[in-house]
Amino acid sequence: MPVIKTTTPKETACVGKKLGALLRPGDVVCLNGDLGAGKTRFAQGVACGMGVDGPVTSPTFTIINEYLGRLPLYHMDFYRLEDALELEDLGYEEYFYGSGVTVIEWPERVAELLPAVRLDIFIDRSPESEEARNISFVPYGDDLTGMVEELMGLVCVGD
Ligand code: ADP
Ligand code: MG
Repeated sequence: MPVIKTTTPKETACVGKKLGALLRPGDVVCLNGDLGAGKTRFAQGVACGMGVDGPVTSPTFTIINEYLGRLPLYHMDFYRLEDALELEDLGYEEYFYGSGVTVIEWPERVAELLPAVRLDIFIDRSPESEEARNISFVPYGDDLTGMVEELMGLVCVGD
């Protein structure tokens, strides 16, 4: 499994930015990790890499924030979601299976509704230091597997 180690929040955002430059219409990215792991920092990098201007804030209370870069970006956070029904009410299929890019924090809250073709990312704290993180990539589907390979080629140590 491809893993990238980061040692600062900026590095995490930078990895997200490189992924953001590669994402295509309809891609779904699930960001797994504890509170404070760096999911939102990573998503901010993705937005930047997609050409989104202006601030990208946590959608914890709004559940979905929409942006427009070179493609639409739907940034979701299901931490406060009551149940899967609430997501159905939000019309999630239009987002997941539309032509924008969907980035989801706390995807495990709606595990049964997630598309089979998606990129799972796990951000874990590393014991090495307060700011060290291990970012693991688990792609489902040939296209996303190829994209992760490309990303690994772009992310060099010390970047
Ligand atoms: P989450 O969305 O996972 O709850 P946030 O991205 O909102 O987390 O916050 C992550 C916090 O951890 C920020 O305060 C950030 O500065 C800090 N941090 C420290 N080291 C890192 C790192 N390597 N990557 C990402 N965030 C980090
Ligand atoms: Mg967050």
